[in-house]
Amino acid sequence: METEKCTTKESYHHTNTKADKKPENMHHEKGTEDNEDSESVEEQPLDIGEHYLVKRADSWHPAEIIQTRYNEQDTCYEYYVHYEGFNRRLDEWVPRNRIMNSRFDMSDQQWKNSDRNSIDLLDQSDRKITRNQKRRHDEINHIQKTYAEMDPTTAALEKEHEAITKVKYIDKIQIGKFEIDTWYYSPYPDEYKKQPKLWICEFCLRYMRLEKTYRYHMSECAWRQPPGKEIYRKGTLTIWEADGSQYKLYCQNLCLLAKLFLDHKTLYFDVEPFLFYILCETDKYGSHLVGYFSKEKESPDGNNVACILTLPPYQRQGYGKLLIAFSYELSKIERAVGSPEKPLSDLGKLSYRSYWSWVLLDVLRDTRGTLSIKDLSNRTSIAQTDIISTLQSMNMVKYWKGQNVICVTPRLVEEHIRSAQYKKPRLTVDCNALQWSPPKKALPVRPQRK
Ligand SMILES: [Zn+2]
Repeated sequence: METEKCTTKESYHHTNTKADKKPENMHHEKGTEDNEDSESVEEQPLDIGEHYLVKRADSWHPAEIIQTRYNEQDTCYEYYVHYEGFNRRLDEWVPRNRIMNSRFDMSDQQWKNSDRNSIDLLDQSDRKITRNQKRRHDEINHIQKTYAEMDPTTAALEKEHEAITKVKYIDKIQIGKFEIDTWYYSPYPDEYKKQPKLWICEFCLRYMRLEKTYRYHMSECAWRQPPGKEIYRKGTLTIWEADGSQYKLYCQNLCLLAKLFLDHKTLYFDVEPFLFYILCETDKYGSHLVGYFSKEKESPDGNNVACILTLPPYQRQGYGKLLIAFSYELSKIERAVGSPEKPLSDLGKLSYRSYWSWVLLDVLRDTRGTLSIKDLSNRTSIAQTDIISTLQSMNMVKYWKGQNVICVTPRLVEEHIRSAQYKKPRLTVDCNALQWSPPKKALPVRPQRK
């Protein structure tokens, strides 16, 4: 009768445990016991919502069990965990052996008083840490604010966002020659979103569950570049403009792919109101997707970028800043001022800040006489608020008689230009290689009568 009651999951323990195991331990009902004895710990999945210390790199961190799954191949449970106080990018599936046996008490006073990083720091709760140091530390480690630290609206949005995006099942994707670890949940259709790995055609962006389907597709797929109009070509770099209403499926697939690497992104399926600018590196095999940005056809908020992404294998090589620069070149041609849609990802913030600093320093260096923030904005198409925050970060603006006033000396400009942070972008837009005029604004659509 023992064996009759066994499920597949339990039968693993029969084969893997030694004979000293007592049969009556094998059928504990879930949740009836605290997992005090190590034998039952092995058999029962840990409860969702509980906190445990989980090993990450070389130290132990309090983490919440978000989900469990049974790994058929390794015949064991795995746990999707969120490290408290850490960015959700670091959420991951871990085996049982990286989780401590006893639960972690989140109301532990020492933990509450610490700066919420790792357990290593708990012993140093008397350590003085200034707000500034903490902020820098948090930025470097991508530590998220707690709900209590946020304003109520942000906190509510964050809670909703977390509820939707909790578990990331798709761990990896294969796209072209790259196998890439994913960062975040993406709302692929149900039959795809629980796969550990997706196979994606790098040209048409179709996604597949099985390698053999993918291989077959690659032998059949006629695409070698993104859809739409080629509007920029310089060396091996090419940018296409694709209209979301014209190439709906491609643009939806692009958004789903992007979500794997962006925490905050809400647009996936309603792509018609957007244009997509797709950057590729071209070789004899075709044009390989590097990154893209999307842009609303009509933006009431004056946004010139809705979403922007460089695929991880191409990050830190100047492509992101090239896309940013490109978005501003389009705004200059439109004679408009633009700003990226908020919130920016932490990586997005760094790229924008770096781009803005470089552009502004470049203008300031070549300018004699006075210049207002509005002048700077007209010349660069960068929104005034973005200019002010960038100048503030460089100590170049003063609030005087109710206004922000640029306050720089040529020496201060030179100092910033010479400092390591303000490097000239590796890739810049060659305006001679850009062939584009603003799309005609759509006239209000009237229902047609036949
Ligand atoms: Zn394809």
